[in-house]
Amino acid sequence: MSYAIYLRKSREDREAEARGEGETLARHKAALLDIAKNRILDIGAIYEEIVSGETIAARPQMQRLLEEVEAGRWEGVLVMEVERLARGNGIDQGIVSQAFSVSGTKIITPYKTYDPSNEMDEDYFEFGLFMSRREYQTIKRRLIAGRIASVKEGKYMGKNNPFGYQRVKLQGEKGWTLEPIPEQAEIVRNLYKWYLEGSVLSVQKRALAAGYRTQNGLAWEQSNTLALLRNPIYCGYVTWGKKKNEKQIKNGRIVNKRKVDQDYLKVKGRHEPIIEEAIWDAVQKKLNETASVPIAREKKMRNPYQGLLYCACGHKMQLTNSTRARKGEAPRPYYGLFCPSISCKMVSSRMHTVDAAVMRSMREWIANYMAESQNIINTAEEQLQEIQQNIAVIKKEIEKIDSQFKRVFELVEQGIYTTDQFVQRRDELQGRKKVSAEHLRSLEEQQNAVQSAIDMKEIIVPQMERVIDAFPVATVEERHELLKSILYRIEYKRVPETGQNLRDANLCLTLFPKIPKE
Ligand SMILES: [Zn+2]
Repeated sequence: MSYAIYLRKSREDREAEARGEGETLARHKAALLDIAKNRILDIGAIYEEIVSGETIAARPQMQRLLEEVEAGRWEGVLVMEVERLARGNGIDQGIVSQAFSVSGTKIITPYKTYDPSNEMDEDYFEFGLFMSRREYQTIKRRLIAGRIASVKEGKYMGKNNPFGYQRVKLQGEKGWTLEPIPEQAEIVRNLYKWYLEGSVLSVQKRALAAGYRTQNGLAWEQSNTLALLRNPIYCGYVTWGKKKNEKQIKNGRIVNKRKVDQDYLKVKGRHEPIIEEAIWDAVQKKLNETASVPIAREKKMRNPYQGLLYCACGHKMQLTNSTRARKGEAPRPYYGLFCPSISCKMVSSRMHTVDAAVMRSMREWIANYMAESQNIINTAEEQLQEIQQNIAVIKKEIEKIDSQFKRVFELVEQGIYTTDQFVQRRDELQGRKKVSAEHLRSLEEQQNAVQSAIDMKEIIVPQMERVIDAFPVATVEERHELLKSILYRIEYKRVPETGQNLRDANLCLTLFPKIPKE
């Protein structure tokens, strides 16, 4: 299998280029190709991000790459730093982290090769991304402060043309404002007028009859009609922080809730209004008095494996339901789980087949775990004691070094040590302290590993046994909760052997239990 190269400029790169330090991507490309040459890696594609999007959604090349990574197309991806892959919100990091770890795709940087199939390496991976997130937050705060200042000056900060207007560059200063597009402005005025004469629905109907379309050629649906009627841009204002989507998890689904931000900023803009303020206010009043449109009712949960069951190819397994009737029998609902990937050859399963396989896999997991961990568990207490003793010794050593440090400072203050002697002695002590601190860290890691082996047996095994007992009599929601309490992922594999009937393919599940904390 071959490797892909992913290139993207960071903010610092752009700044460096502005200082005349040369084109970054070309330099990075050469560096990564060099690595490929030295290690004899076959490069199958080079993805160069032209735009500088903060989210994956805004980075087309990244989307392509991720799709291929998920599909297991690449052995590895060469990138200057892990941070070039994901930066921004935690969900994006999760998507990238998951795509690479699920498909076992390596990440190769000039400094280190990350192999997500190696558990220790995944730690490094997540650590790298986390660092960049903090750094990114700082940069983002600075950017936001700049944007707020621009809004206060009445400038338009949006990236797109709101319907009815086009963005125009301000003369003789930085920033943008808006200019009405006469034909679209006419439509905006009509939609506002029609709403005062009727309802949101009547506006949609009249717009459809008149052949009105949005800039993207779409019909005026409820959501974009409402957005247009609520937008203060049409009566000459610019805003900041109006829309604040709050994500909430409901029944395992993410639901967006709109809230008005406390830092909401509304300023008279530099642009010409399309709607008179009195009309705009009247529309708002009417909108607020009209009961909000009910959102589609939450459907009952039908899939206990929602968010848990993944095909071995990396895709989330999806629920199918249909009604099937045998001759002479009443139709019965049929539930099944299938992999949505078109290229995937995995055979789908009925719900009850998966249920049975999950129960069987949990029993097998316990049996395997008990067998494998017997030795570790037997000696765990002893090991723990030994490690703890070593930790105590090393802590004393560190204390000793610290007190020697103090002594060195006293000696130099009293004039007994010369500056040179001081520097030499300080460096020596610092070196010793570094070695001891590293030793301490590795002991603490060992301690955690042994502790989690003990916890596994004392916590997760009995917990899994309880789930096995409760599962057969539980409702779909309860099953979902039960499984989520002990597993973070179930991998699905059902491949027919050559010459075998599809129906006879063996279903094989791999369980990924949650490691108990504390
Ligand atoms: Zn699949």
